[in-house]
Amino acid sequence: MSITKSVFDELDLHYPDDNIYFQIISAVLESAERLDLPHRLKLMMAQPKNEIIVHFPVRMDDDSFALFKGYRVQHNNVLGPYKGGIRYHQGITLDHVKALSALMTMKTALVRLPFGGGKGGVKLDPRSISPEELMRLTRRFISALGTNIGPDYDIPAPDVGTNAQIMAWMADTYVNISEPGKRLGGSGVVTGKPIEYGGSHGREKATGQGVVDVLEELLPGIGIDINRMTYSLIGFGNVGSWTARLLHDHGARLKAVMDHTGAIINEGGIAAPTLNTYVSETGGVAGFPEADPLSEEEFYATEVDVFIPAALEQMITESNARLLRCRVLAEAANAPVTPAGERYLLERGVTILPAILCSAGGVTVSYFEWKQNRQAEVWDPETVDEQLRKLMVAAARRVNETARQLKCDLRTAAYCAALEYINKVYNLRGIFP
Ligand code: GLU
Repeated sequence: MSITKSVFDELDLHYPDDNIYFQIISAVLESAERLDLPHRLKLMMAQPKNEIIVHFPVRMDDDSFALFKGYRVQHNNVLGPYKGGIRYHQGITLDHVKALSALMTMKTALVRLPFGGGKGGVKLDPRSISPEELMRLTRRFISALGTNIGPDYDIPAPDVGTNAQIMAWMADTYVNISEPGKRLGGSGVVTGKPIEYGGSHGREKATGQGVVDVLEELLPGIGIDINRMTYSLIGFGNVGSWTARLLHDHGARLKAVMDHTGAIINEGGIAAPTLNTYVSETGGVAGFPEADPLSEEEFYATEVDVFIPAALEQMITESNARLLRCRVLAEAANAPVTPAGERYLLERGVTILPAILCSAGGVTVSYFEWKQNRQAEVWDPETVDEQLRKLMVAAARRVNETARQLKCDLRTAAYCAALEYINKVYNLRGIFP
């Protein structure tokens, strides 16, 4: 019996093989098995500590009431407060949030941040409601979570469908429902806030910057020059557009982009800053005048050095993977490749730079923001960039070194490097009482 099936049987958890939570935890447990880590650690990793579901009403603009479902899953806090984004998306499920919370535990441990892992979300399409409704929904969600979050306990941040404005409403709500004596530091309850209200320089571009820092560190070893590479991109939201704008400064050539509105190509290169202006006006890449439309299949089959998924989970299935013609796949999104897609790509010799490394820039600058809030400091943009680069390069080297020692792929290496650290801290702390 596989390690995952036996641990899940012990915990009386039953999932089909294509379930995202089952898939993520399987990869984590197989890495733990490889290192021969204690059974108790596998049990702790296989199940989040807390799974909170709230249902809350919101007054809509036409005076009707709508009921929404919100989640906060707190996977593990042995290294420090739970940390991770809150997503607004119509397709969100408890298993999705659980899977993403486990990835946050891995991500913060890999980078050696003093945080555990958590994730949250509300099931809705944020584009379908007005800004006023969005504000009331956000405030009501945060008041429903109440003391389940806090600057020393669980610290949310932006994710798909949420942004700095939403973080400002979250922090303001938390501060208003806190006891008067605790209000001063209350806004440290979330990160990714606007700069004017306790946010950090560099937080908005941080995930994209982290992707670029990792590529700069690891591509030379694979024989690719970041300044001359070609690449394609799925997703042109915060992470995709920042990654592309920063790579544009390096001179890398963006050949094709796909998002929820369609796919576009320009063999000579798409200017990411111009595309960014276009997408902020139109809401998507389709119809961009300086590129040609192409089908989804043609998009996947475009030959590039590096393929960067920066959108939702599980988009690179085995059948999409079979179309890819790239040497490196850099996961800027969380869990974009299914296990079957991954097996196929690894067999073909494609190097996969794993999400817990590539997409760790956001939570790393979140850590800097939380630290600045606690110390009532403001770091300049150069300091943030420098510190981020330092931690991303160290994490990339850690993954490379572990892969070399264990003779394994980079995802397994990243999980092993994270788990080994978590195990050390469990051994030091022990289990209360
Ligand atoms: N949502 C981002 C992630 O998945 C950022 C989390 C954070 O800043 O806490 O890594």
